[in-house]
Amino acid sequence: MSRSAHPAGPRHADVLPEGHYSAPPADLNALDPKVWAQTVRRDEHGVLTVGGIDVKQLAEEFGTPAYFLDEDDFRARARAWRTAFGDDADVFYAGKAFLSRAVVRWLHEEGLNLDVCSGGELATALSAGMPAERIAFHGNNKSTGEIRRAVEAGVGRIVLDSFQEIVRVAHIAQELGRRQRVQIRITVGVEAHTHEFIATAHEDQKFGIPLAGGQAAEAVRRALQLDGLELIGIHSHIGSQIFDMSGFEVAAHRVVGLLREIRDKHGVELPEIDLGGGLGIAYTSDDDPREPHEIAKALTEIVTRECESARLRTPRISVEPGRAIVGPTAFTLYEVGTVKPLDGLRTYVSVDGGMSDNIRTALYDAEYSVSLVSRPSDAEPVLCRVVGKHCESGDIVVKDAFLPGDLAPGDLLAVPATGAYCRSMASNYNHVLRPPVVAVRDGEARVIVRRETEEDLLRLDVG
Ligand SMILES: *Cc1c(COP(=O)(O)O)cnc(C)c1O
Repeated sequence: MSRSAHPAGPRHADVLPEGHYSAPPADLNALDPKVWAQTVRRDEHGVLTVGGIDVKQLAEEFGTPAYFLDEDDFRARARAWRTAFGDDADVFYAGKAFLSRAVVRWLHEEGLNLDVCSGGELATALSAGMPAERIAFHGNNKSTGEIRRAVEAGVGRIVLDSFQEIVRVAHIAQELGRRQRVQIRITVGVEAHTHEFIATAHEDQKFGIPLAGGQAAEAVRRALQLDGLELIGIHSHIGSQIFDMSGFEVAAHRVVGLLREIRDKHGVELPEIDLGGGLGIAYTSDDDPREPHEIAKALTEIVTRECESARLRTPRISVEPGRAIVGPTAFTLYEVGTVKPLDGLRTYVSVDGGMSDNIRTALYDAEYSVSLVSRPSDAEPVLCRVVGKHCESGDIVVKDAFLPGDLAPGDLLAVPATGAYCRSMASNYNHVLRPPVVAVRDGEARVIVRRETEEDLLRLDVG
């Protein structure tokens, strides 16, 4: 999204929201189960509860803004992915969506594997007891230090992203007297977007080695020759917030094509294929995500069919959902500070967080829902924009939302589906303190990542 300076006037007048926000929802108090975590309800006083605890009590105990994560929901979603793919496939949770030691333990207990893409994520995973062989290490520019630590720890796979890295990992593994299991990440020329995908011959992006021009085949040839590497498969990740499976169909077709070429040229049938993550979730009632079992069925059928026609043994499949597991399990709770009606335009509602705890609206023009959760209201819906407290006019949390006309300072607002890419992308902009993540389960709430303090800030600033 571009924001450019322009004279006040016509462009400021385009206040009528687009699409589904053009009419207010029938009931502002309703909570669409699609966008809220599983145990979220309103109690008999109309106050939102999660894991059996109401948000007024949570706000009092933990402050705002804060992320509240429904642990049962997280575990249920992790388990659903695991069960859907069964024993013939591996589910790797993409740690970049949200990673903490508690989350690592839950994943371990639910039988999932874990993707990391930096030394920090690797350290978090190992310190919470995730067995190294269940960790995959990603990234387009892993440092030699990071690679060394990963190989030493014995990670289950390193996903190679460039020609340089093939040599670099082989060299480090050999130095350490290891043979490192690796996959090669290729780009297959599929650009997946939320509701469509584009299949092209080339892909203009920093990740992976292009299939086009024989580069991926050449990478495989080199990896097969290096003693420090055990090439176990090919990796492809086509995008994020995807609803349409046809992008995966094209990707799988092209990956299997490469597997066939490898067999024909080198007499090797690689045993694994990783189709990445990117499965979409519902941020608003307009989104219709698929269930894990539907996705598993579709992906397995696609790969099986492609392999049959290429007369290859069907490889073991891996998938890497991040958002689809953690995204829907958390909401951000904010307190309203000011309510500023701008005549004939809209009402600006300022909350006590903003782009420091949710950058996705500013970064990707992402859409979110928002509800008044500390009380019910029968007031008329008013077109609002929920904004943060940062010194930046692009500091928007929810661009267009209807909220009750009697909204007032002190009310609590909750933005659902903020489990993924919110705390993990949080910043200290304006020296705002990053909010805590509180796990809620069975009437108990427990901080899993504590709120940052001014002491934390000052400790980094060594004068
Ligand atoms: C980001 C990423 C994922 C997870 O994406 P989601 O949209 O959160 O499912 C999986 N694999 C790779 C390689 C990624 O870069």
